[in-house]
Amino acid sequence: MVMTKSISRRIPQRTCVACRQVKPKRELTRLVCVSDGVIEVDTSGRKPGRGAYLCRNIECWKAGVMSNRLDYTLRATITRENRERLMNYSKDLAGE
Ligand SMILES: [Zn+2]
Repeated sequence: MVMTKSISRRIPQRTCVACRQVKPKRELTRLVCVSDGVIEVDTSGRKPGRGAYLCRNIECWKAGVMSNRLDYTLRATITRENRERLMNYSKDLAGE
């Protein structure tokens, strides 16, 4: 069997849950539901579990985390503490 490498490698695309824009996966931050109702920022992008993506800007984090869009996408009930933890993370994004 001859191995033919495709020139046009497909870049994985994901949708931001806040603004619904489709972007290359690497430009988004993955959030993962690690256990029932516990959402963590997945910096490696490889954690197992149901995932959702957000743009690296504070507006999308506010819209995604503070509304119930993230809950809906991850089918989880996110606690207030969890939301605050995620928002704390997003504050670092603003400095970039
Ligand atoms: Zn976005």
